[in-house]
Amino acid sequence: MSACLQYQMDIARQAVSFMADHGIAPTPENFELWTLYLAGVDEGLGVAVQQHLNSGGLLDGAFSETLFGQFVGHRDAVRVATEAESTASKTLNRIKELLSKATLDHREYAVSLGRGAQKLERSGEVKRIRAAIFDLIQANQKIERRSAHLEHELLDTLSRIAGLNTDLERLKAETRIDTLSGLANRKRFDETLAHLASKADGCQRRRLTVVMADIDHFKTFNDTWGHQVGDQVIRFVASILRADAGPDYVVCRYGGEEFAIIIPNASSGEPGLYAETVRRKVCAKRLTRRSTKEKLGAVTISLGIASHRKGESVQALVARADANLYRSKRDGRNQVTF
Ligand code: GH3
Ligand code: MG
Ligand code: MG
Repeated sequence: MSACLQYQMDIARQAVSFMADHGIAPTPENFELWTLYLAGVDEGLGVAVQQHLNSGGLLDGAFSETLFGQFVGHRDAVRVATEAESTASKTLNRIKELLSKATLDHREYAVSLGRGAQKLERSGEVKRIRAAIFDLIQANQKIERRSAHLEHELLDTLSRIAGLNTDLERLKAETRIDTLSGLANRKRFDETLAHLASKADGCQRRRLTVVMADIDHFKTFNDTWGHQVGDQVIRFVASILRADAGPDYVVCRYGGEEFAIIIPNASSGEPGLYAETVRRKVCAKRLTRRSTKEKLGAVTISLGIASHRKGESVQALVARADANLYRSKRDGRNQVTF
């Protein structure tokens, strides 16, 4: 047996006894998750498990489900999306090839026509005129055949691209990803928060925390620069929120120009530090329009934070984070309230 196979067998055996020890059902999803964990190849997964254990959490089926959504489902989505992108790029290259072939054919046709015209000019004989016309008809038939073939190939390619788009859209819906920002979507936010709140008791040292963030005066920005530039700004803010997030944070687009971040086990001061860091990074960036390099100035965000209290409902927790966000707005925007 090769060393590689031996190693894989060891990890698989460890995963089976690990699941048995913790009373986790040996489903294919759980097997995939815990072999990944035991192989130690995903640093984020290792940190998430450690933090969960440090805060007194159990490695049970429910936690496995959350981890699967965060680490394995996501890896799958990334793999499928990467494959789809590579197929799309191959398909586009094929279209380019076909189009350049068609251009060549048309050029050849133009040359044939020119030659035919010259023959006609030079000759008064009926025989030679007939030959010239015959050449032209042949060239025409050839181009017709090529065009029909090209049309068929293009239609086939286009239907393959349409299939890929449908696959990608379905994948995004299943994996709860917001298409514009690439963040988790509102549905994933609601599901994750409900799941985590059902386990939180609100009196631990580390607490389930929600950070809400909203871009300031975004309507004015959109009205001035247009919707497409607005979309670019939403993506920019999303990238900052994600770049500074801890490995177990769930960063979501809550809707429109509003974001919500779940910090499952926040230590005291951690959410405030995160919110203040992203607020500073967003307002420090001088934005430029990608297409024309025009200077757009800066945007700011306002944030509100709330940590879960014992017995509190998810709705009440989100409402408190939202109320704090609106206090930031009322007090002059570009600030954090908790
Ligand atoms: P405030 O500081 O009080 O939050 O002011 P605001 O202008 O940001 O808030 P308001 O709710 O009045 O406007 C939000 C704007 O966000 C309106 C809408 O045009 C824009 N918006 C919402 N979703 C999108 C989107 O997906 N793309 C773009 N470009 N704009 C969006
Ligand atoms: Mg706003
Ligand atoms: Mg808003």
